Amino acid sequence: MNTIKSVSDMQQWACATREAGKRIAFVPTMGFLHEGHVALMREGKGRGDYLVVSIFVNPTQFGVGEDYEDYPRDLEEDTEKVSSAGGNIIFAPSAKEMYPSGYQTFVAVEKVTQNLCGASRSTHFQGVTTVVAKLFNIVKPHVAIFGEKDYQQLVTIRQMTRDLNFDIEIIGMPTIREEDGLAMSSRNKYLSPEERKQALCLFNALNQVEKLFRGGEKNSKKLIDRAATIIRVQSAADIDYVKVCHPETIEDLEWIDDRALMALAVKIGKTRLIDNLVLKN
Ligand code: AMP
Repeated sequence: MNTIKSVSDMQQWACATREAGKRIAFVPTMGFLHEGHVALMREGKGRGDYLVVSIFVNPTQFGVGEDYEDYPRDLEEDTEKVSSAGGNIIFAPSAKEMYPSGYQTFVAVEKVTQNLCGASRSTHFQGVTTVVAKLFNIVKPHVAIFGEKDYQQLVTIRQMTRDLNFDIEIIGMPTIREEDGLAMSSRNKYLSPEERKQALCLFNALNQVEKLFRGGEKNSKKLIDRAATIIRVQSAADIDYVKVCHPETIEDLEWIDDRALMALAVKIGKTRLIDNLVLKN
């Protein structure tokens, strides 16, 4: 396994690999890897001759006052994990390498970024699409794998890939959870033992909503109220949003005919967690 830090070295490797007729699979991450990332890597391994994993805490997707500086980092441990998942290359550039002085170009996807996390984190998705577009041009993958844990991000990247004609297959993978159901996230590290217990309210709320939905409840407000009630019981929980929306357009849905995305963002203490569930008949 090889770690590459420079954009031009990464591009040279990608060009040579493509010229040799080999398929490149790519998993972009911000590091501090867990089993959710490993599941993406395993999928990538099966879809390409070479697996590239990027580890880059991308400053442009963090807002003012968010956790860019504090975001957990551990390149040594991550290298072990990528290696045992069968990864071939880690691309780990510095922020200066990705955004040298004078940098001034951004990629923005319009409609699907307006609701949910886009409403509360105004520059977040522009940062995500900018860095992913750059990474696509640097790693030159045939296929890229993303998690449904960040559902709106996956929809946004699919949209960008279509709109900008990136010749890359985008694969979405289901959320990997801890044994008790909490969605794995690098940010779970921030939780105190008491907060870790209370954080389970996101998963519990989604489960209760699914039960209600299966029992025939199609009115979004009723489903939202049920989820919010379960979350509000926890003293450390502060709801950013609880929404039911269309799984492709990400617009609010008042009534569920066929399929819908129930999406949650909740602060547990100072830690903002997200989770979601696709409800389908
Ligand atoms: P991150 O390092 O948090 O930016 O995530 C990198 C990729 O891993 C994204 O495509 C995420 O959606 C995905 N991911 C994060 N957590 C999970 C999880 N628990 N299960 C599956 N995929 C995940």
